[in-house]
This record gives sequence, C-alpha cells and structure tokens, in this order.
Amino acid sequence: SKFADFKLDARLLRAVSKEKFTKPTPVQTEAIPLALAGKDILARADTGSGKTAAYVLPILQALLHRKARAPSEKSISALVLVPTRELAEQIYRVFVSFSLFCAKEVRAVNITQRVSHDVLRSMLADLPDIVIATPGRASQNLSSATFSLEKLTHFVIDEADLVLSYGYEADLDAISKALPRGVQTFLMSATFTAEVETLRGLFCRDPAVLEL
Ligand code: AMP
Repeated sequence: SKFADFKLDARLLRAVSKEKFTKPTPVQTEAIPLALAGKDILARADTGSGKTAAYVLPILQALLHRKARAPSEKSISALVLVPTRELAEQIYRVFVSFSLFCAKEVRAVNITQRVSHDVLRSMLADLPDIVIATPGRASQNLSSATFSLEKLTHFVIDEADLVLSYGYEADLDAISKALPRGVQTFLMSATFTAEVETLRGLFCRDPAVLEL
C-alpha cells in the first residue's frame, strides 16, 4: 500500500514525503484506515514499528477536516499520554513535522517540560489543538482547572504497558472520568498485559485489536 491510498489531506501527504516515508509500515497500514473510519484502536506495537505516525496522521486528518468546517472554533481536541518526558518530546516532534504544511491550522504543545505553573497555564490558555503529557501532568492540570477535556475528540495512551508500570493508575482514573462520551481512543502497547486490559475497559469502545 501507499500513503496516498489513505485519502489524507494533501498537506499531510506532503509532510509524509518530506519525512521520506515511502511506504506505510504494517501497523500504519492496519491502523490508519480504521482510525480514519473512527474506530478505537488497541495495537500491540513496539518502538520502531512506526506506531507514532499510525495515530498522529489520522488525528491530524480529523482535526484538519474539522477546522475546514469550523475555522474559528478553538479547543483542546486531542490528548496524548506517555510515560516519560523524553517520549513526550519525541511525539511532539512527530506532530510538528507532520503538521509542517498546516502549522496555522493545528498546533501541539508538550506540557511535560519543567516550567513554572504560570508558563504551563499560558501554554494551555491559548487552547492548543493537541496536548502531549504524562498522566501525572494531565491530571494535575485537570484538578487545577488549567485545562478542560470537555471538547476532546481523540485520546491516546502510548506505551500503555509502561504508563501503568510507572504507577499512574489514579491519574488515569481521574482522566477517564473527565473524558466526554464518544472520544476516539488509541491504546498503543508493546505487550498486552492484564493492566492493558484494564485500560481497554476504561477507555475503549469495541476497539479494533491489532496484533502485529
Ligand atoms: P516509531 O515506532 O513511531 O517510534 O517510529 C520509529 C522510526 O521509524 C521513526 O524514526 C520514524 O520516523 C520511522 N518511520 C515510521 N514510519 C515510517 C515509514 N512509513 N517509512 C519510513 N520510516 C518510518
């Protein structure tokens, strides 16, 4: 298959070419069409499999589509949770590189950086489209009301097995209660453990299960 088969926005396809991605990886081939069709995705995918683009591209596609219909609407639409600050930075860079040709329409922020509460507050007050956080940071900002998930449409937990091993259960529980109905969820995990099953129960609606 080819990226052009996915019917992605031309600006995203340009960014894909610029990244020199010639051909989708197996997880991308499986996940992208299902994700574009609105399915929740539970994927067993290791680092190096191309799992990041497998959710970044469909999320950017959905947000661009919405922006085209309602250009003036601003809200936090996607929340991506990861276990570590390093991974947050990597994923942030993937969002930035794929939105290179639509940087005015969609904006991501990484809120895991060690910055003051005021700086964080101003990063979020501007209502970025996409927020990348650890569960701890996300739940802190929920309780201090520096951001709201009321308008969220896309939710990702990347490296879900690691997220749990870092002891973020209580934060995830709080976040699950703040998600609006009908959010599209992506759970990416290197292994399918009992804990990942728990997350599936908490966050997914009849997900497509991809074991690659
Ligand atoms: P990930 O598994 O998402 O961490 O991606 C691992 C590496 O593979 C990253 O350096 C990506 O830029 C690269 N990559 C992901 N998808 C593709 C693709 N379809 N073609 C070439 N490289 C890719």
